[in-house]
Amino acid sequence: MSHEHLHGKPITVLTFSETKEIIIDNDELEKMFNYPEIQERKVVILSLIGAFRGGKSFFLDYCLRFLYAHFPSINNPWEETQFIFETNDSWLGEPDEPLTGFSWRSGTKRDTTGIIMWSDVFLHTIDRTGEKIAIFVMDTQGLFDNESTPADNSRIFALGTVISSIQVLNLMNRVQEDQLQYLQFATEFTKFTTVETVEENQKPFQNLTFLIRDWTNDEEFEFGIEGGNKYFEEEVLKITATQMPELRSVRESIKSSFEHIGCCLLPHPGRAVAGRKTYDGKLSGMEKDFKEELKKFIEHLLLPDNMILKKINAQEITGKELRTYIEKYFKLFQS
Ligand code: GDP
Ligand code: MG
Repeated sequence: MSHEHLHGKPITVLTFSETKEIIIDNDELEKMFNYPEIQERKVVILSLIGAFRGGKSFFLDYCLRFLYAHFPSINNPWEETQFIFETNDSWLGEPDEPLTGFSWRSGTKRDTTGIIMWSDVFLHTIDRTGEKIAIFVMDTQGLFDNESTPADNSRIFALGTVISSIQVLNLMNRVQEDQLQYLQFATEFTKFTTVETVEENQKPFQNLTFLIRDWTNDEEFEFGIEGGNKYFEEEVLKITATQMPELRSVRESIKSSFEHIGCCLLPHPGRAVAGRKTYDGKLSGMEKDFKEELKKFIEHLLLPDNMILKKINAQEITGKELRTYIEKYFKLFQS
């Protein structure tokens, strides 16, 4: 299958002015949410967040390949037949096909800080229930570089968390304590500002998956989701009697915020992917084990049975409602 012409484009829906005010592209949002097909559908929103040059957009562009290979979309309609998943590598694309979609790579120019959405929306009907859903893809950029301020970072971080149903936090090498503290800050802040009525014991956010790139300690914790979950249980989120109170409180806060927390460990992609200026994103440039783990993880996130519908205050929301929420949240964070 050829992906030369993706049927969409990246749209910067939110960015900052020089005076650090939030600028929203309402025209583009309007266009994107205007399609009659998506108004009444339940929604899935995949969001990637993390420091710049961590391979986020690169990863999302492979997610787009998966989505275009398996689902019709607004701009590429085909009949929504039963989804039959075949375990082969064809969705990954041709070996030498350049990678397109969200713009990625190690350019010298700094990315503007903001939230970028893929203009096309994927459509699917769930076999089990017959429920029609719409799938949105969201990228963030320019976070944690030396020009973005902690306030920019926390606003983007918090917005990603409230808007998405699948939030992937992309990190290099391992999880560090400061990153957990950052996450705690963003989720507490978000809880405080956005959740209207939280029932007791109800977790305000849905799915958080840590995606660790360039993992090297695979002798102790093997690559993939099982190894990642084990690493999280045994090393990252563990609460012990002898732990410092602040370390414990960070862990308790994160655990009480998300319904599900998972982790995936990805191997190093190889020198071509990690550094070559001329690398165009093609499959054949990747190390074999990276390619395999990438494939498994994307399937884990986006297979229909695994996809997570967006809920707000425990209610599944529709495309129309998502539009209203996005507007409301963007405004809320403007102040
Ligand atoms: P973003 O700023 O997080 O969106 O990062 P990009 O997707 O633009 O990628 C930045 C650079 O990282 C590119 O040169 C990619 O080829 C490279 N890259 C992609 N995946 C990985 C990975 O898993 N590890 C490393 N070390 N580099 C990667
Ligand atoms: Mg990027």
